[in-house]
Amino acid sequence: MKLIILGAGFGGLKLARMLNNKPGFEILLIDKFNYHQFQPLFYQVATAGLDASNISFPLRKVFQNSKNVRIRIAEVQKIDTVQKMVITSEESYAYDNLVIATGAGTNFFGNKELMEHAFPMKSTVEALQIRHRLIRNFEEALLAGSNEELQRLMNVVVVGGGPTGVELSGAIAEMKKYVLPKDYPELDFSKMNIYLLEGTGKILSALSEASSKQSLNYLQKLGVTVMTGSVLDHYDGKTVQLKDGKQIDSSLVIWAAGIKGNVPAGIDENLIARGNRIKVDRYNKVEGLDSVFAIGDIACMQEEAFVNGHPQVAPVAIQQATLLAKNLQRIFENKDGLQPFSYKDKGVMATVGRNLAVVDIPKPKLHVGGFAAWLIWMMLHLMLILGVKNRFFVFINWLYNYVTYDQSLRLIFKEFYRQDVKH
Ligand SMILES: Cc1cc2nc3c(=O)[nH]c(=O)nc-3n(C[C@H](O)[C@H](O)[C@H](O)COP(=O)(O)OP(=O)(O)OC[C@H]3O[C@@H](n4cnc5c(N)ncnc54)[C@H](O)[C@@H]3O)c2cc1C
Repeated sequence: MKLIILGAGFGGLKLARMLNNKPGFEILLIDKFNYHQFQPLFYQVATAGLDASNISFPLRKVFQNSKNVRIRIAEVQKIDTVQKMVITSEESYAYDNLVIATGAGTNFFGNKELMEHAFPMKSTVEALQIRHRLIRNFEEALLAGSNEELQRLMNVVVVGGGPTGVELSGAIAEMKKYVLPKDYPELDFSKMNIYLLEGTGKILSALSEASSKQSLNYLQKLGVTVMTGSVLDHYDGKTVQLKDGKQIDSSLVIWAAGIKGNVPAGIDENLIARGNRIKVDRYNKVEGLDSVFAIGDIACMQEEAFVNGHPQVAPVAIQQATLLAKNLQRIFENKDGLQPFSYKDKGVMATVGRNLAVVDIPKPKLHVGGFAAWLIWMMLHLMLILGVKNRFFVFINWLYNYVTYDQSLRLIFKEFYRQDVKH
């Protein structure tokens, strides 16, 4: 079976690994990057806690000993479901079966101003761009010509009170508390404000009430100004204008308030559900298309408990990939009895800072907060990171940061300084 997998994220990579060296399968794994990205720790790259290479894993290394997985680094441009072809920026490839695992990208909801001036965080490079802007702003603050300019350079606005926004604003608050005043003794850090804007009435709304309240409490203790019910109207690179008329001057706005599926061209728009996700059946088969499957963030599958599709989290992508590998094997062997997908939700969590995290476990229904939750969060993330070396380095980094209250990755590389963002 000539199987093409589009995207080497949590879903695509898992699927390729499951079918690695399986007789009868000829696999082509296509991604625009030559490495797998561990998105849950982007925020630590953005806040100089981890090196980018600790959370990015070269794809070719994973399949060094593979007899049947080939890799192509290319941007998928179009799918031709009639001719059964994938058209990429480099070449075109024919498939017998196709799996779309292209995940989701940032959704700016068409706001061009935001696209130009705000920083998204959906790739390792974007996390590095945030890091460089953050540090660069303090270098510029030393040279600020007026109090207004100084304030603008020292204010940070994070938009979106989901796990990413919470984790990021907590980590920046810890930099403010433990690291930045030592690096910049000439600056008065009581002037640095970190705002977390959330459009709805509470942060971490997908978690339990207890987690939402506890994380708010943690963030406030860390000095983050959490503004719920606050919707950003526009941002010109200097001033955030909220719908309720309030304004915040800031040279760094991080946009963590929306994602949308990376749907390749060639998929009929009738097959697209809310959030730009592709409608699939319980076998991850794209509705109405022969031999085309979709898994992970890009797939919208309805289950009794998830009528609007599953949450866009790594375990869904991994579980769907695992089952699809088994089902593809049955298809290959012409066997009946494909197994329908059912999501096993083992819980959700978010970390706010040192010793501070929240964990919700569905069965038995349990909420854990504080140090215990923080340990659970760390252990689980360490287990999920690909590669023993990466796991080891992340652990050592965390240990070092924990003991010294410091990290040493505050380097500014001009290449990562986003040219198009001016302030
Ligand atoms: C900042 C952040 C923090 C997160 N934290 C957590 C967390 O703590 N826990 C959790 O469970 N989930 C978390 N998530 C969500 C989780 O990362 C996703 O649910 C998961 O990555 C989805 O897996 P996927 O395989 O569907 O897509 P992805 O892992 O996003 O992979 C998609 C792949 O497709 C490639 N691709 C996309 N378009 C193209 C194209 N046109 N051509 C070629 N290649 C393409 C991409 O390069 C990427 O490698 C987080 C996400 C972000 C952004």
